[in-house]
Amino acid sequence: MNIILLGAPGAGKGTQAKMLEDKFGLVQLSTGDMLRAAVAAGTEVGKVAKDLMEAGELVPDEVVVGIISDRVDEEDCKGGFILDGFPRNTAQAEALDAMLEEKGLSLQHVIEMKVNPDILVERITGRFSCGDCGAGYHDIYKPVSKEGTCDECGSTNLNRRKDDNEETVRSRLEVYSNETEPLLPYYQGKGILRQVDGMASMDAVAEELNAILSA
Ligand code: AMP
Repeated sequence: MNIILLGAPGAGKGTQAKMLEDKFGLVQLSTGDMLRAAVAAGTEVGKVAKDLMEAGELVPDEVVVGIISDRVDEEDCKGGFILDGFPRNTAQAEALDAMLEEKGLSLQHVIEMKVNPDILVERITGRFSCGDCGAGYHDIYKPVSKEGTCDECGSTNLNRRKDDNEETVRSRLEVYSNETEPLLPYYQGKGILRQVDGMASMDAVAEELNAILSA
């Protein structure tokens, strides 16, 4: 089973993708995570992506399409994958269709996590994560028990994403509404669009997703 999680930045795609990985044996393919790794490693892709990501703009389509195409060919994706943060515009969606067809693959579900945009700035600017074990936190909704220390692994390597500041978040939200939202009618037309209430609790969203994927 191959699926796309669609939703504005901060809708909870990454968190839910991780839960679905465990439950359904799928692999999360987050273009944002892959690009951040490329920036950290200083690769050619990272050099192209760095400033665009810091400005909240999209990295060129051919870069992300190439990354996904290579990644999907890897052995661990044979049991199915969750696209998180890709595609982000119509050109990427069309490239994905062509790529899947060429590889003899298809999409079973495209799931929109619907959220009220008014809460997203607060959700995103408060979030941070453990650089060692990846556990996610939030200043208000999920603080650490001991200041500066990860509850899960005890590490003090807690980080905020560079693009999670208010100005960049506003650009990212604008890019989402201008470029990514048009994908909703695109997938609706193909009859594979589903929706879940991304404003519900994490567990309630997970339950809705389980129901869709188990049907
Ligand atoms: P994310 O972690 O999904 O919020 O992505 C962080 C940033 O990475 C975005 O603001 C873009 O600059 C870049 N990015 C991630 N995925 C894509 C994509 N599919 N197309 C273009 N840029 C992307």
